[in-house]
Amino acid sequence: MRIEQDIKLGFKDVMIRPKRSTLKSRSQVNLERDFTFLNSKINWKGIPIMAANMDTVGTFETALALANKKLFTAIHKHYSISEWISFFTEAPNGIEDYVAVSTGTSKNEAEKLAVIFKEIPQLKFICIDVANGYSEHFVDFVKRTRNEYPDKVIIAGNVVTGEMVEELLLAGADIIKVGIGPGSVCTTRVKTGVGYPQLSAIIECADAAHGLGGQIISDGGCATPGDIAKAFGAGADFVMLGGMLAGHDESGGEIIEQGGKTFKKFYGMSSTTAMEKYAGGVAEYRASEGKTVTVPYRGPIENTLQDILGGLRSACTYVGAQRLKELTKRTTFIRVAEQENQVYTN
Ligand code: 5GP
Repeated sequence: MRIEQDIKLGFKDVMIRPKRSTLKSRSQVNLERDFTFLNSKINWKGIPIMAANMDTVGTFETALALANKKLFTAIHKHYSISEWISFFTEAPNGIEDYVAVSTGTSKNEAEKLAVIFKEIPQLKFICIDVANGYSEHFVDFVKRTRNEYPDKVIIAGNVVTGEMVEELLLAGADIIKVGIGPGSVCTTRVKTGVGYPQLSAIIECADAAHGLGGQIISDGGCATPGDIAKAFGAGADFVMLGGMLAGHDESGGEIIEQGGKTFKKFYGMSSTTAMEKYAGGVAEYRASEGKTVTVPYRGPIENTLQDILGGLRSACTYVGAQRLKELTKRTTFIRVAEQENQVYTN
């Protein structure tokens, strides 16, 4: 046993220190980024915020709304091949730049992925997503996927430490998804004791990825636009959101009426709800590692996007970053023991 003594930080432990700025207005801030990915060499331009591949977030409807503003959606893996085909036929016009096809690492999932790419060769992004990205089997799967799809962008995760980021990039991934345990409906830290505070995970993983020319996605734990700004400030190239994009018209999931108010169901992809829906229940050898919750219904996702992008632009103006790309260079975090004033919130 060994103990690392330096304290790892989450979003709640820091704030971004304001800096002198020559920007007059937040409308001067450009949130678009331009990346050429390490292994596929594909070029991408857009606002690097992603909807999570959860079936109550990363839906086709969410993708249409987000792509409209050049944001990205990791589509959840439970759509059928024919649903993919009809979605793509109805909405082509560049949508392939803003969606990823998600997959796990089983043989069936690899076969389904192959059929989707055979039917829709224009698609460019693959999101290989497992709860624990530390297994040898996962690294092998990333290698095989790279061999099979040399010119597709491969997103792989989740991990939280620099050495595994490097291993996955060397195995052929372009973008590494970072986050174990911070998610709003995640119970991994409670069930297993395993995890890593997200801000430190981003700082350490971004350093490792950028050293090799790769990118990272900060996945999970953002509850406010301010957290998204902190994630970019820490060095994330992309930020993935689950809960912040749940509860909308586009988010999928059931609508629930309770006490005259409207809610939507939102749940982790390893929750009992998800496992009952897709895997015939919770297998005997495992525990559910996700919550099922109800979130207030929030109408069209567009208003939420505006709130998020406005907050992010404002963060950039506070530190004098004219482009999102400059945010991390201009970020000094201060460690704090307070966040929002809670007097009028409950
Ligand atoms: P949020 O933005 O809601 O805080 O986090 C979203 C992320 O939580 C997802 O992208 C995914 O990485 C993670 N997640 C989703 N469902 C589950 C789950 O059932 N268990 C765990 N451990 N993580 C989950």
